[in-house]
Amino acid sequence: MLRGVYIVDADNTMWDTNAVFLGAQLKMAESMRDRGCSLETAAAMDLLRALDFRLAVALDDFEYDYTRLALALLLVDRGRPHDEAVRLAAGAPPPPEWDQARPAGTAFYAHLQAHCPPLFFGVTETLAKLRSEGNTLVLHSEGREQRIAQTLAAHNLGPFFHHNVLERKSQDSFRRARQAGEASFAQARGRSPDHCVVVGDSPKRDIRFGNIIGATTVFKPGGGLGTELPDDPLLAPDHTISCFTELLGLGSR
Ligand SMILES: [Mg+2]
Repeated sequence: MLRGVYIVDADNTMWDTNAVFLGAQLKMAESMRDRGCSLETAAAMDLLRALDFRLAVALDDFEYDYTRLALALLLVDRGRPHDEAVRLAAGAPPPPEWDQARPAGTAFYAHLQAHCPPLFFGVTETLAKLRSEGNTLVLHSEGREQRIAQTLAAHNLGPFFHHNVLERKSQDSFRRARQAGEASFAQARGRSPDHCVVVGDSPKRDIRFGNIIGATTVFKPGGGLGTELPDDPLLAPDHTISCFTELLGLGSR
C-alpha cells in the first residue's frame, strides 16, 4: 500500500453517475416526445449526448442547468441548426421556448433525485482500509455540491474523508487538496506523508492535474469516458486499475 494522502474523485470513480445521468436523459427525451417532439428515442439520445458536450464547453461547466439541454433539443427539433440551438440555449436571456423545455428539465432532475448512483465494487471496504491504516483521504469533486453531499450520505462515505474539496478542478485546486491532506497527516502522525495519490476516471480532469502536482496518479476507468487514454504523456497515469480494491495493492513507483 502507498502510504500518505489520497485525493479521490467522486463521479464515475467511486459511483456510477453515468448510469443515472443516462436514465435521466431518457426521461428528458420521453418528456419531449410526450409534448410533441418528433424525435425517436435512439436519435434523441445521440443528439442529447452531442448537444450536452457542446453546451458544457460553451458554458465552461460540466454540470450546468440541464433544462438548457432540453431547450437545445427542442430548438433542433423545430429546425434550428445545431450551432444556433447551442448558442441560444447557452445564452441569456433564454428564448421564448424556455417555458416549453422546462418540463423536460424537471423530468431529468426528478429522475436524478429518485435514483442514487450505485457504488462501484469494493469502494467502502477500500476506503475503510485506507483510513484505518492511517492514510489521509481527501474527496475532490467538481460536481454540484448538494448532489455530491447527498450521494456521500446515502452510501455512508462521508466519515471516511478528512477533507472535501468541492470546487472546479485545476492545478491549484489539487494543490490545495494536497496541502489540506498533508497538514492533517502531519498533525496525526508527526511527520510528512511519503506519497500523494490521485485517483480518478478522467484523464483530463484528474490524471493531468495529479501529474502536474507530482502525485502518483491512478486511472480508474468507469462511467461514460471509457478506458481509452489520450496519446499525451501529461494525461498518462502511473497506474491503471479496473477495481477500486486494487488501490490497496499498489507499491511505490
Ligand atoms: Mg469523475
